[in-house]
Amino acid sequence: MDEQVVVELKGIVGAENVSTALTDKITHSYDATQERHLPDVVVYAGTTAEVSRVVMLANRHRIPVLPRGAGSGFTGGTLPVKGGIVLVLTHMDRILEIDTDNLIAEVEPGVVTAELQRQVERRGLFYPPDPASREFCTLGGNVAECAGGPRCVKYGVTRDYIMGLEVVTPEGDIIRTGGRALKNVVGYDLTRLFVGSEGTLGIVTKILLRLLPRPEAKKTMLVQFETIEGAAQSVAAIIGAKIIPTTLEFLDAATIGCIRGGSGIPLEADCSAVLIIEVDGDAVTLDGQVEKILAVIRPLGILQTRIAATPQESEAIWQVRRMVSPSLRKVAPDKFNEDVVVPRSRVPDMIHALERLSAEYGVAIVNFGHAGDGNIHVNIMTDLRVDGMAGKVERLLEEIFRTVVELKGSISGEHGIGTSKARFLHTELDLQTISYMRRIKAALDPNNILNPGKIFTDRLPVPAGDAGGSEP
Ligand SMILES: Cc1cc2nc3c(=O)[nH]c(=O)nc-3n(C[C@H](O)[C@H](O)[C@H](O)COP(=O)(O)OP(=O)(O)OC[C@H]3O[C@@H](n4cnc5c(N)ncnc54)[C@H](O)[C@@H]3O)c2cc1C
Repeated sequence: MDEQVVVELKGIVGAENVSTALTDKITHSYDATQERHLPDVVVYAGTTAEVSRVVMLANRHRIPVLPRGAGSGFTGGTLPVKGGIVLVLTHMDRILEIDTDNLIAEVEPGVVTAELQRQVERRGLFYPPDPASREFCTLGGNVAECAGGPRCVKYGVTRDYIMGLEVVTPEGDIIRTGGRALKNVVGYDLTRLFVGSEGTLGIVTKILLRLLPRPEAKKTMLVQFETIEGAAQSVAAIIGAKIIPTTLEFLDAATIGCIRGGSGIPLEADCSAVLIIEVDGDAVTLDGQVEKILAVIRPLGILQTRIAATPQESEAIWQVRRMVSPSLRKVAPDKFNEDVVVPRSRVPDMIHALERLSAEYGVAIVNFGHAGDGNIHVNIMTDLRVDGMAGKVERLLEEIFRTVVELKGSISGEHGIGTSKARFLHTELDLQTISYMRRIKAALDPNNILNPGKIFTDRLPVPAGDAGGSEP
């Protein structure tokens, strides 16, 4: 990168917020995927005006800009695959307002999700989206990925809580979408366009969030099943009984195998599936909800049920869920973490298909996730040092995504497309639809400077007339 550009960047954000040191470039070269790409420069922005001026400069020089929060994304969204400026938003971390009359919070994008949750809970309020990374990921990253989490089964995803945004466009303009009014049908819904756009259409610099009153109490239970069918039928039975739990998490037999022994809660030797179920609401209603759930799942092959009587016991149950990710490496050194989603009733079909594919390809597949909304975290456990394994995994991934689409699901429920799934976009979307998405990208970002190389790949056939932006 031209040295003069670095000088100009220092003029915008201050020399202390610009670094071309190799150590800084390395620490901003990766996210939660296994990929690494070095940027040319790392820039920390402190204000919307600074973000705007940095983007204008980059656009003038056709330099890629990569917005970055905590770098915890699972699909390579913030990776500088074409070099350029990694623009870090974590210094913009103020909670600007918590409006307890209108149940709205206004925040900067660098606020850590759990910090907002703690602040609103102190005021008797509640911000439901709860990615497992909430202690370190940022709300800007959550908006860009439309993050989910276990509570989404009852409360919905990040999209459902975004009332408005301030956004710096790829040409450096500052625009505002949505607002504080609960009803608003003025013009196009640009808020929805930016939510989940993976930092490819604009940089979010302020967020207006909808809050809820905090539920009075909650109750957690861990249920062990003889069979995966029993667990899957239980999910359908609970929802069929018109009970929407706050969370409905499941672990399959392979996952249980990874955590057995290390789990604080003993898991039966013949346990093939676990459901972690939590309900919330007014304290007086909770026992009734639990009873209703037990009544519908009791005939479905339960080995053991543990109902937490105290917050500590509830925490011990959640600890079982939290130890899953770190335990998986026991199975194999390399892990492909996919977050497919199918209609709730098709979860058993998906699990059976995964079992079949695992046997066919001779590759371990470990599944856990949010059964309540059909979002399954499919972990392909492998060793890429083995000859021919990379090609095998690629074919396996393609089959998994095809199966998901056949079951009327989606290849990503909450982690996005980024670089990891760009080559599979066409398994879910037809080329005409992809073409319209690319036109939106080209209209907002004519020089393709904002997060280039994400979501779309030029390896796909492009229908005639597509105005997709050219690579810088
Ligand atoms: C252990 C672990 C558990 C996780 N659990 C979950 C989970 O349960 N549910 C879930 O949904 N995700 C989960 N994730 C994925 C990840 O944490 C989320 O995608 C999170 O929303 C990313 O936030 P971040 O601040 O780290 O964003 P980054 O990784 O820094 O960026 C993610 C994307 O957002 C863009 N971006 C960042 N900030 C902005 C901004 N201000 N404006 C525009 N674009 C921006 C980036 O360019 C990139 O494309 C998990 C990750 C880990 C490592």
